[in-house]
This record gives sequence, structure tokens and C-alpha cells, in this order.
Amino acid sequence: MSATVDALLPLSFLEAVRHVDAPEEDVDAELVSDLRNKRLGLSDTVYMQIRRFTDAVKRRQRTSHDEAVGLARLIGRRPDAEAVFRAAGRYLAREAYQSISPFTRRLLLILPSLFTRPMTLRHARRLAARYFNGRVSRIGASIYLEVTRSVTIDTAPRSVGCTYYEAGLKELLRLMVNSVGGVEHVRCGTRGEGTCTWRAEWRPTKAE
Ligand SMILES: [Zn+2]
Repeated sequence: MSATVDALLPLSFLEAVRHVDAPEEDVDAELVSDLRNKRLGLSDTVYMQIRRFTDAVKRRQRTSHDEAVGLARLIGRRPDAEAVFRAAGRYLAREAYQSISPFTRRLLLILPSLFTRPMTLRHARRLAARYFNGRVSRIGASIYLEVTRSVTIDTAPRSVGCTYYEAGLKELLRLMVNSVGGVEHVRCGTRGEGTCTWRAEWRPTKAE
């Protein structure tokens, strides 16, 4: 069987494109239709694809890895590719986070991290495996995300595509434990270092 990704992953690309390309509110209708022709994010094709992937998400279906790569390539050609990839990574993290029950989400945020760390890690592992096709591990005060089969690798110049996962990991830890630590891309497939790996500082800050 060919490789698959969670339908939320391609949906995150399309939602980010739609968000970035949305016109300012006071732009008149004529200009919008003019923009539609120029901007990918406003085209009917994108709306149709968003509907298709949204349905797939509801049915918990997985979709084609290659199709997701195709969408990443379209983003990679844009001059604002990094901004779109980052927005998409944050979208994926936010949606993935919503799959944790509200009660658990609250616990993770308010209890001392000493108690919640194993639970946080377990959820982070599950979300990373399902939505990012990645593996999460912890060494000391660092959280690692390793993605063996990146959807965005080589879809943009240099390692711009990798900012998708970087932004996703950062947002996920911010939501889960209000972590304010930085994320570093410690190993990259585009540099011939095998798989792509990111390291996040585990710096939870608790709500008052
Ligand atoms: Zn990379």
C-alpha cells in the first residue's frame, strides 16, 4: 500500500493558503474576482479541495502522501512560502490539540509539570504519530520530533519546507504546556543528514 497522511495535513496547507490569500475586508467585489484569478488561495479549486479534505477529516480517512507533497510543492513556489508553511504547521498543531479531551487539556496546563510530564509526552507522541507522521522522544529537558518521511522536504528552496514541522512542534508545545522554549532544526534531510529532526526546549509555564 502506498504511503498515507492524515487528511488534516493536506487540509492544513489549503487552509493556510486561504488564510494568507484572503483579501482585506474592505476590498470591493470586483477586485476580489480579479484577485481570485491570480491567487491560488481564492480559487474554486482550492475551495473544492478544502471541502473534500474536510469531509475526509470528518470520516477519519487518511489520504495520499503524494497528493500532500503536490500541495506542498505549490506552496514552495510562492515567494511567501515560509509564511504559508508556518501558518499551516500552526493550523495542524491547533487541530491536533483539539483531539485531546478538554478535561485533559486543562490538567496539562494547570498541574505542575513534574506530574503531567509523562501524560504530556504520551499525548505528544500520539499526536505526532497520527498527524505529523513523526516520532516524539525526550532527552533531559529536550523534546525531539523526528520525521522520516517529510511531506515538505525539497518542496521549496533550501530547507524552507521544514519550517512547517518546526512551527507545528512549537505551537503544539505552546498549547499543551504553554511552553515558551525555542525550536531548533538539529538534523535535516536536505543537508544529507538522513531524517529531519527538531529539538524543542521543554520550558512549561503554568497558568496562574
Ligand atoms: Zn529538514
